[in-house]
Amino acid sequence: MTNELQLRLLPEQAASEQAIADYLSLEKGLERGSISHIRVLKRSIDARQRTIFVNLNVRVYLNEMPTDEPFEHVDYPDVSQRPQVIVVGAGPGGLFAALKLIELGLRPIVLERGKNVRDRKKDLALITKTQQIDPESNYCFGEGGAGAYSDGKLYTRSKKRGSVEKILNVFCQHGASTNILSDAHPHIGTDKLPQVIEAMRNTILRCGGEVHFQTKMTRLIIDSANRKVVGVEAVSPEKEMEFRGPVILATGHSARDVYRYLATARIEMEAKGIAVGVRLEHPAHLIDQIQYHRREGRGEYLPAAEYSFVQQVEGRGVYSFCMCPGGFVIPAATDKQQIVVNGMSPANRGTQWSNSGMVVEIRTEDIEQLTQNIDFEGQNAENPLKMMAFQEQLERDCWQQGNRKQTAPAQRMADFVNGKLSFDLPKSSYAPGLVSSPLHFWLPPFIAYRLQEAFKIFGKKSRGFLTNEAVLIGVETRTSSPVRILRSSETLQHVTVQGLFPCGEGAGYAGGIVSAGIDGERCAEMCAAYLLR
Ligand SMILES: Cc1cc2nc3c(=O)[nH]c(=O)nc-3n(C[C@H](O)[C@H](O)[C@H](O)COP(=O)(O)OP(=O)(O)OC[C@H]3O[C@@H](n4cnc5c(N)ncnc54)[C@H](O)[C@@H]3O)c2cc1C
Repeated sequence: MTNELQLRLLPEQAASEQAIADYLSLEKGLERGSISHIRVLKRSIDARQRTIFVNLNVRVYLNEMPTDEPFEHVDYPDVSQRPQVIVVGAGPGGLFAALKLIELGLRPIVLERGKNVRDRKKDLALITKTQQIDPESNYCFGEGGAGAYSDGKLYTRSKKRGSVEKILNVFCQHGASTNILSDAHPHIGTDKLPQVIEAMRNTILRCGGEVHFQTKMTRLIIDSANRKVVGVEAVSPEKEMEFRGPVILATGHSARDVYRYLATARIEMEAKGIAVGVRLEHPAHLIDQIQYHRREGRGEYLPAAEYSFVQQVEGRGVYSFCMCPGGFVIPAATDKQQIVVNGMSPANRGTQWSNSGMVVEIRTEDIEQLTQNIDFEGQNAENPLKMMAFQEQLERDCWQQGNRKQTAPAQRMADFVNGKLSFDLPKSSYAPGLVSSPLHFWLPPFIAYRLQEAFKIFGKKSRGFLTNEAVLIGVETRTSSPVRILRSSETLQHVTVQGLFPCGEGAGYAGGIVSAGIDGERCAEMCAAYLLR
């Protein structure tokens, strides 16, 4: 027999299946010996009041065990003899597109410029050691894409629950913890993601698909008479190659060479608004104390606390982005002479720091004001790459400020708000190191002023948040794509070029792991409709 119950428990009562079973037998009169299994269907933390509760929706199995898996399995057939589709990029957009193609009976050929997820890790470690970025293997490029060495947060603003659940189920089928199906704010963690990504690759290979690492698409092969993409040209360290088939282009928001190539090939794109700012890092215990309203912070039974802030300042949104409780700040540049920071955290969110992006919304029409005294290629109002050029310029400026290495310019939070250079800096998780720098002075005033005003308001909303124990690290620029590759909302093909499916975050249609995965699946469906029409 099973029983579904909604419970509101203290953190220690919700700490394990055992603890929940004890509660049920003590408080709900269920016989302890008859509780054979508890499946948590939903879990959220209510920390609004002084007493913190964990809200649970559970299925209790009495004198029986579950006969089904907690997630739905997808059957992936053998597609080795089926028509092929080229998927460029093995980030979440590309990987979910490839798996969906298999589900639909098509053979994915995945091309990825970076290395496999394991070898890639060695290049990430080298960034701190050598202070250099490998332009083909870094925090954004390589198997798993930008999502591999991340927090692996899996929440999304997408309202399509069915599509979100499908993505989470596929992750579970490939080894992710089934907690992601029940947690209100699910995340996988950077230490667990590589195994999951490898398992996804193995499904693709087992079913007869192909995955080529260190294989960079350089050009689309376009049948110009019909304005139709029929394949791609690519290079690996050993040779040049051609792959034939329609193309799902899922190259992410950091492949600037791809955008530049598309512009020269006259593939229509438009500039897109972005948000830029800094990473803000606090001691994790401070955030725990603030968010859980108690001196002891998270204690033994609560996870590292999260926060979320948003504020309008002079007509533009200023907000926290990609919060990583108990995480690290990492160097996420993709080329030399850039500094870009981002955040990630392990599954246990157990480091002594909590960080988030603190970013200001920038609209395409703001670019003139932002670049008044700068001479750069993106100034032409019609240029689809103008936001990208601004992003790039800011990353280069940051590198100059950071001693022309990956040591990032940084300033204590209250000093930034008060316009004061920091005399010294707190200990930070950012491994390449920090350099004290007047961010309030050299960040564009459009951004610095709004951040300063927003921080004052955030400090009033959450006492203790605006503090010199926190440090701002420059610059966070890769929050979303600065370019949109124009596609039909019905067929998802490019507006003027058939057989080309711009996909995921880089195409401007997703912003995060789950939404990129959903977009990958949709592109695969539309590509199947195109091929099998
Ligand atoms: C450090 C970090 C932490 C993040 N944390 C989170 C998080 O916790 N939760 C969340 O939802 N999102 C997070 N994000 C954002 C998320 O990773 C992206 O939204 C998501 O990965 C986008 O997926 P995508 O497949 O569209 O593109 P990407 O993941 O960027 O993948 C694109 C892939 O294409 C490859 N590629 C590029 N050009 C070529 C070419 N010419 N030929 C062949 N291959 C090419 C790249 O190497 C890359 O692997 C984070 C991002 C970063 C950088």
